[in-house]
Amino acid sequence: MTDLYTLERGTAPLLISIPHLGTRIPDALREHYTDIALTVADTDWHLDRLYAFAKDLGATILGARVSRYVIDLNRPPNDESLYPGQTTTSLCPTETFRGEPLYREGRAPDAAARAQRVAAYWQPYHDTLRAELQRLRSLHANVLLWEAHSIASVLPRLFENKLPDLNIGTQDGRTVAAEVQAAAANAAQASAYTWVANGRFKGGYITRHFGAPQDGVHAIQLEMCQSTYMSETAPFDYVPALAGKVEPVLRGMVGGALAAVQALNAVK
Ligand SMILES: [Zn+2]
Repeated sequence: MTDLYTLERGTAPLLISIPHLGTRIPDALREHYTDIALTVADTDWHLDRLYAFAKDLGATILGARVSRYVIDLNRPPNDESLYPGQTTTSLCPTETFRGEPLYREGRAPDAAARAQRVAAYWQPYHDTLRAELQRLRSLHANVLLWEAHSIASVLPRLFENKLPDLNIGTQDGRTVAAEVQAAAANAAQASAYTWVANGRFKGGYITRHFGAPQDGVHAIQLEMCQSTYMSETAPFDYVPALAGKVEPVLRGMVGGALAAVQALNAVK
């Protein structure tokens, strides 16, 4: 563990990345933020706990410790929009998902400060992610990169109505072999949860950047409603009775996709 991320290494062809898990706003930056920002409400809360089952599968698990309010690790470093024409959030967001200001008057980072954050916080996570994928690729011809995300189920600024419970994103199938995506989708379909593939969320920067099935990296983003496992209001408690129901579904989705990747490795 470093100040920037936690890393648990496994040897299975499975890397789980949780780039919005972080709640830390470094001390030197805290004075710039509003009180609402310091609650870090838009965190992908508790996903390390929810995905703990993946250790039994031999997964490598990488989780950010720094808040997305400092820098969003799932955005390109040049801050191009992931969803042109739609309201979306940026590399160094200045508002919460609900439109509340993150910074005190005049304190939002300028271009130089944003570049400094890319170097200090963004780059180390990406360097580690790349190195871990390379390590796993040295062991297996094909590996699964599972991008784990969660979000409040109703956010009118970002999407209409309630989001489906489980949102698979693969850039319309470009970041993963079809049979690997199908295995994850089949497990969602067999569950009691609502789900969609490549709906509002098609996979963020990490999925798009690293997903290259022709080179043996199969990337799937799962954006899930926080209502499936936690309280969506402060203090954002984990709700074991809910989590206990969705965890077997996640296990089926991740395990199914992993088995499909392992089948690809077996025929090589
Ligand atoms: Zn997220």
